[in-house]
Amino acid sequence: MALHDSASTILTDQFGRRVDYIRLSITDRCDFRCVYCMGEDMTFLPREEVLTLEECERLVRVFVGLGVRKVRVTGGEPLVRKNALWLFQQIGQLDGLRELVLTTNGSQLDTQARQLREAGVSCINISLDSLDAERFRKLTRVGDLAKVLRGIDAARAAGFARIRINSVLMRDFNDDEAIALTQFAVDKGLDIAFIEEMPLGEVTHDRASSFVSNDETLAALRAHFHLVGSPETSGGPARYWRVPGAETRVGFISPHSHNFCESCNRVRISCKGELFLCLGQNDVVNLMPFLRDHPADDAPLRAAIINAMTIKPKGHDFDLRRAQPAVMRFMSVTGG
Ligand code: SAM
Ligand code: SF4
Repeated sequence: MALHDSASTILTDQFGRRVDYIRLSITDRCDFRCVYCMGEDMTFLPREEVLTLEECERLVRVFVGLGVRKVRVTGGEPLVRKNALWLFQQIGQLDGLRELVLTTNGSQLDTQARQLREAGVSCINISLDSLDAERFRKLTRVGDLAKVLRGIDAARAAGFARIRINSVLMRDFNDDEAIALTQFAVDKGLDIAFIEEMPLGEVTHDRASSFVSNDETLAALRAHFHLVGSPETSGGPARYWRVPGAETRVGFISPHSHNFCESCNRVRISCKGELFLCLGQNDVVNLMPFLRDHPADDAPLRAAIINAMTIKPKGHDFDLRRAQPAVMRFMSVTGG
């Protein structure tokens, strides 16, 4: 049987890394404008350039047929896309998929959390960078903290296996909130991960001066909490610590230290159908023509995905001192 005909084909790159996790951005649009993620005035893609929800479903089905076991739906803000729930319901029924997960800013969870859980979403990452309403608005430029907090409570009530808060700390914006955000996670029984700011897309602030290292955040937390190192992983780049006596795991995602490239098991698909082999590099294969030129035949699409594995780069190359960002596209385009 040809390699691409086998339902059990495993996607493996030239460094022997098995790819069994995809992150799919279903929209570049968002109801927030976080300062580290977007410019103030964004021009979003015309609708016809964005994958339809049916195309998203087809892509995921083909990847799962190639051995992918975990799918993260992200954006932009995935839950502002009309009928996004339909997509979750379709993906949730795919044979062979083990984990359907979501990254969201939480703004729509107060009304959607329960239905997402019923559709088969097992874990959610919710971004939360400040517990101060005014500051939250400054960081997101438009966000309403109270609504996000209601969304977090709705997610807790819906019974997800795990909920993780994602926080990006920025010098002189919110770097004094590491302890408060961690205490919030402990009080609510949630995980929390601190993500170092990455130089993706051009923004208005100077990333070198806003950068807060996770080493610094960890030191601040250790002065306040008794943290115990944990060998656990979530299959991703986070290093975890535990707060004894609490449910909470405290994670640190430190892209600048290159520490996760060796075990990278993921690829990203933008809402335009571009397959990015590495978040921090420009290697890409455009899958849209394979979807649109062959609407009833998955074989060309499958072959393109298998071939793409040969150009997955060894690792990223983030450097905050560069005048230009390493990668010009925003995280909202590639999918965080
Ligand atoms: N809108 C959703 C959200 O905010 O969770 C999903 C998409 S967002 C691009 C995914 C994650 O990327 C968020 O946790 C956000 O904080 C993070 N992010 C965005 N831009 C980033 C950057 N330049 N550096 C580090 N993290 C970033
Ligand atoms: Fe939107 Fe998420 Fe980017 Fe914030 S981080 S602007 S919520 S996509």
